[in-house]
Amino acid sequence: MGYIDDEVKRLQSIVDSLDGRIKALEKSQIGGPKPKTAEEIRMILIGPPGAGKGTQAPKIKEKFACCHLATGDMLRSQVAKKTTLGREAKKIMDQGGLVSDDIVIGMIKEELENNQECKGGFILDGFPRTVPQAESLDAMLRERNQTLQHAVELQIDDALLVARITGRLVHPASGRTYHSTFNPPKLAMTDDVTGEPLIQRSDDNAEALKKRLATYHKQTAPVVGYYQNTGIWKAIDASQEPGQVWKSLLTIFDNDKAKAKSSGSGILSKLAGRS
Ligand code: ADP
Ligand code: AMP
Repeated sequence: MGYIDDEVKRLQSIVDSLDGRIKALEKSQIGGPKPKTAEEIRMILIGPPGAGKGTQAPKIKEKFACCHLATGDMLRSQVAKKTTLGREAKKIMDQGGLVSDDIVIGMIKEELENNQECKGGFILDGFPRTVPQAESLDAMLRERNQTLQHAVELQIDDALLVARITGRLVHPASGRTYHSTFNPPKLAMTDDVTGEPLIQRSDDNAEALKKRLATYHKQTAPVVGYYQNTGIWKAIDASQEPGQVWKSLLTIFDNDKAKAKSSGSGILSKLAGRS
């Protein structure tokens, strides 16, 4: 009898200790990081200036709770701070050229490594713009055991871009964009969210646009070919109104989900030995 009592006491103390550890764990979860339920996204948006990358990216960011990295915005922030890099970049940007690959690759690498928002995935907007940038991105992702899921090309005729670019208004701090005719702010030249003034970018004029489009066709069009070869390229008609462009993006995401389901790539099917 003494042996059974001792054993019951021993088991009781194990149960008490486990109970305490579970309560402590539950307590540490309150206010801590929430369990990750959202799907992760890793994608790039390719398209000429004015195609709508910066208009659609915030909606993707909201849907997937990921980061939105726009190399143009990062460079403009350097210009605003008047750093050495900013001064050099401004000359190139105003002429419609491309800043050196090393600089933009470094910026993206730094963000992917340190920006907490990128833990939920990322949308790259305006990067990669050259084949060496695309190759570096692949190498960066390989190091992280990750792959890109989508390379979405926003296709649009050059002729439609002049009106979009010359009417674009920007809230520099957030990168939010408006259009004087197609998407005007509630109050003229004022950001709807912060009430701060909107600006027109110094490179958003017809002359600089001509050069930016030439740069796009010469240096960025080959990036489209690069992703067509990998099988993750998809094209969207970006001349549609913004709501329709968004619907086309949602179709891409939904098709991807359906494909993953039918190929049984979930954890349960892995446990069942189906993938
Ligand atoms: P990008 O980031 O590709 O350079 P933006 O998203 O900044 O292009 O769009 C350029 C301009 O065109 C902005 O003023 C924006 O409000 C407007 N715009 C974006 N998408 C559309 C669209 N589908 N139809 C009409 N205007 C648009
Ligand atoms: P965007 O805001 O994407 O229109 O970019 C504005 C300008 O920044 C471009 O015209 C380039 O001069 C420069 N820039 C942005 N992204 C890149 C990139 N990935 N590679 C080289 N230059 C870039």
